[in-house]
Amino acid sequence: MEQTEVLIVGAGPVGLTLAIDLGQRGIRCRVIDLKPGPEFLPKMERCNARTMEIFRRMGLAEKIRTAGLDADVPMDVFITRSLTHAPFVHLDYPSVRAARAEIAACEDTSLPAEPYQLISQYTLEPLLRDAAEALPGVEICYDTAFTGLDQDAEGVTARLTGPDGDTHIRAAYLVGCDGGASAVRRALGIGLRGEGDLLRLRQALYRCDDLFGRLPIGDGPGRGRHYHITDDRHSFLIMQDSTRHWTLHAVVEDDAAMARQFETVVGAPVDYEMLYVGEWKQNLLLADRYGAGRVFLAGDAVHLVIPTGGLGMNTGIGDAVDLGWKLAATLRGWAGPALLASYEAERRPVGDRNIGASRYASTGRRKWRGMWHEGLLEDSAALAGFTRTAEAEQRKTNEMIGAELGYRYTGSPVIWEEPGGPEQLFRSYDPTAWTGVRLPHAWVRPGTSLLDLAGPGFTVLDLGGNAEAAATLAAALEAFRAPAEVLSLPDPRLRDLYGRDLFLLRPDLHIAWRGNALPADPAALARTVTGHALP
Ligand SMILES: Cc1cc2nc3c(=O)[nH]c(=O)nc-3n(C[C@H](O)[C@H](O)[C@H](O)COP(=O)(O)OP(=O)(O)OC[C@H]3O[C@@H](n4cnc5c(N)ncnc54)[C@H](O)[C@@H]3O)c2cc1C
Repeated sequence: MEQTEVLIVGAGPVGLTLAIDLGQRGIRCRVIDLKPGPEFLPKMERCNARTMEIFRRMGLAEKIRTAGLDADVPMDVFITRSLTHAPFVHLDYPSVRAARAEIAACEDTSLPAEPYQLISQYTLEPLLRDAAEALPGVEICYDTAFTGLDQDAEGVTARLTGPDGDTHIRAAYLVGCDGGASAVRRALGIGLRGEGDLLRLRQALYRCDDLFGRLPIGDGPGRGRHYHITDDRHSFLIMQDSTRHWTLHAVVEDDAAMARQFETVVGAPVDYEMLYVGEWKQNLLLADRYGAGRVFLAGDAVHLVIPTGGLGMNTGIGDAVDLGWKLAATLRGWAGPALLASYEAERRPVGDRNIGASRYASTGRRKWRGMWHEGLLEDSAALAGFTRTAEAEQRKTNEMIGAELGYRYTGSPVIWEEPGGPEQLFRSYDPTAWTGVRLPHAWVRPGTSLLDLAGPGFTVLDLGGNAEAAATLAAALEAFRAPAEVLSLPDPRLRDLYGRDLFLLRPDLHIAWRGNALPADPAALARTVTGHALP
């Protein structure tokens, strides 16, 4: 029987990101997917700031920016009657070039190291596939479906159906990254809970070469990313990364009506071709468990959000990098049992919170849609009230920086938790260095983020010039055979920004511990963060 260390079911963005993380850590893995290869189908289109920080660490950020939307195109959002009408609401969001200039000039920890990047999922997936396949231990097999599994104390045997018929493969661990209908989740008997099938929309993909160049059409809105149309069909037009492709979501009676709806939304004659139409459902659902035994689940397999706020794939990328180093540590023999157990303890609350953020954002959008009727056009006071509400409520979708960057792992068995801690807000980011958060970004020198200097294993960050304490802590980790290095940056400016002399950073750059002196029992700290402490 064929063997691998980790079998990943699903070559979507989450499965491929996990494969890259494992491959870069020297773990052998096989990714299988039932589809014949990446498909040209519309889905997500924005990597958020945290995802781009993760891709920066993997060495992929620049490739993704080159493949994605041009750095000079603004990310503006409009609420309008059609592309030929003056917009009611225009929310300004900077182009990547403008956002990067703001980040480059930032002297504190309030901004991420990388801004967002618009890149269509159909562009991102082949790029991630190529990056994964270039790693020596990673193998990707398309046209291969997962059909079932058995697990025992040593590993998992998966049943597959592929070009050679039915086969089996044995892996030490299996991760189901197989999307909302996850066969792996169902094989484990794990349910989803929450609100399902909230709204059914059609989504269509069009090629329309001259639309971008003609914006604004008439008095219409200018260049941007999202165009919400004030109608009773929930019409929502999205620019894709080439600026030649557009997707439209709308509630219409049949597929053919999506062509007419595009013409109505544009409001002026343009040449276009409709490339795809499909139906999708809005869900707000969370899995009861994130795995069982040697089988784990990540991405849409465990959390389904309404895409408002862009917390679908982006949440899944966070799952992948939380799980990757823990699997690698366990396979290389230095992790205690609490390390893999901490995956669910850390990531399920984030999934739950992001479903809440998505609900909050979509409620805002429903609110202004509920107020709209054509009669408002005859009543300037009522129209002004609608515009005010629409602007305030729409911002809830497009301003989610707290949900993106500010999540903190609380109640984790592998973090030396400090009591209290700031509230975690969806809309604003508090750049705290409390234990459990992602290490906030600050520039060490122009172009070099503190995030760039941390090692692949644990990093003891010494900002206070306490070399002896840092070395002792690294040695305590090495006593558990965990890879650890000291990063010595005795810089008063950084010390001031981060508020402590010493930090213990995990391989995923979350802060496991902080202090101004060596902890009373460094071995106990090392035991906890490597997962060897008893619950
Ligand atoms: C219209 C729309 C817009 C969106 N916009 C955004 C956005 O801007 N930002 C964002 O973060 N998210 C967005 N999302 C959500 C995002 O697309 C998903 O969250 C993301 O695709 C999830 O990635 P995944 O890898 O977990 O699962 P998927 O992308 O669903 O991948 C799962 C893979 O598993 C494979 N598979 C399934 N079953 C099996 C099996 N039995 N055997 C083998 N393979 C199997 C499938 O073929 C598929 O390739 C949007 C979604 C939609 C529908």
